[in-house]
Amino acid sequence: MIIQPKVRGFICTNAHPQGCAANVREQIDYIKAQPKIEGGPKNVLVVGASTGYGLASRIAAAFGSDANTLGVFFEKPPTDKRTASAGYYNAAAFEEEAHKAGLYAKSINGDAFSDEVKAQAIDMIKQDMGKVDLVVYSLASPRRKDPKTGELHSSVLKPIGKSYTARNLNTDKLEIGDITLDPANEEEIAATVKVMGGEDWELWLDALGKAGVLTDDCKTVAYTYIGEQLTWPIYGHATIGKAKEDLDRAAKAISASGQADAHVAVLKALVTQSSSAIPVMPLYISLVYKVMKEEGTHEGCIEQLYRLYTEGLYTDSPRLDSDNRYRIDDKELRPETQAKIEKLWPEVTEENLFDLTDYKGYQADFLKLFGFGVDGIDYDADISPIVEADFK
Ligand code: NAD
Repeated sequence: MIIQPKVRGFICTNAHPQGCAANVREQIDYIKAQPKIEGGPKNVLVVGASTGYGLASRIAAAFGSDANTLGVFFEKPPTDKRTASAGYYNAAAFEEEAHKAGLYAKSINGDAFSDEVKAQAIDMIKQDMGKVDLVVYSLASPRRKDPKTGELHSSVLKPIGKSYTARNLNTDKLEIGDITLDPANEEEIAATVKVMGGEDWELWLDALGKAGVLTDDCKTVAYTYIGEQLTWPIYGHATIGKAKEDLDRAAKAISASGQADAHVAVLKALVTQSSSAIPVMPLYISLVYKVMKEEGTHEGCIEQLYRLYTEGLYTDSPRLDSDNRYRIDDKELRPETQAKIEKLWPEVTEENLFDLTDYKGYQADFLKLFGFGVDGIDYDADISPIVEADFK
């Protein structure tokens, strides 16, 4: 089949196997070109390991610290008629490269929120690695089935308290207009915390700890975004921000339980399958790209993760904020960087979108998430969507 991008709104419904594999190799090459992560992890569980920040966490651990990795994710396998989801191809390519490098790498393709997948991960750790010394929690999901009650909770992306009107870029039609979002009600806030808050992270650590598969010096980290004034009404101070605040509570609880040293890491805004679904973010990220590329401070997931390991998790002098979080969003939040973004924000129109912002870079990175627009790939070639993978 000839695989060309099929974009619908803020998602792309197919993926290119060779393009995804090339992206994974590019991230591996970046890590291999950096100094090794001193004192880095050796046996790692990554929950949410197939795309975005979780994939970068796995690559940085494996190729920057020779770590064995077990990855958990939820991805669609290919059929003769339909491509797999990008994360499936990414994970298959990662395993292939890790095995070539002589590293242990296995994966579970299933619902990380379920008790079954947690039990399966514990069995595999016991059998293959003994114990893990790092657990990365990098899930991003719109819904979660509570394993105890069976109830399905859906998150919402809404402001809290009052409605919010903001400039928004419709990435489908390339139109800039105001979008008004009504405030969430109490049930919606609670449901978002259920899905994206810290409860499942705690359940993972509790299950792993009780099964005796965490080393005494085990670390665990979950990811958040905080941002600044422009994004607070839709992120930091909105339903998703409430859920993310719950991660801080969970980090304290996990550390207090003695299971692992738990921290939240604050990462920068980047194009991923999850962030492109959040209103306002595509325009904001296009401006971040513009300003940070001009400043020479632009980073992708893999650069962020290398810094998280070397400037946060595996250094004696990590950059922590007053809430004990690793701050890797330092460059995005520099006052001068934010000032430039805030100045440009009201000036952007449909006519000057490609001049004032780096929407071109945003769009290219978005397509790249699905393996499209990657150098060296022949997108007119007739190829099979089938890639064999030994996921559990
Ligand atoms: P992503 O969509 O690229 O990755 C999500 C991962 O979760 C994938 O591996 C997916 O397979 C997995 N997943 C989703 N539902 C699952 C389920 N039920 N069971 C198993 N796996 C499941 O997202 P991302 O942007 O890399 O986000 C990862 C984390 O980083 C999130 O906590 C997010 O809030 C945080 N973060 C993102 C940004 C950003 O700008 N993208 C910034 C800071 C922090």
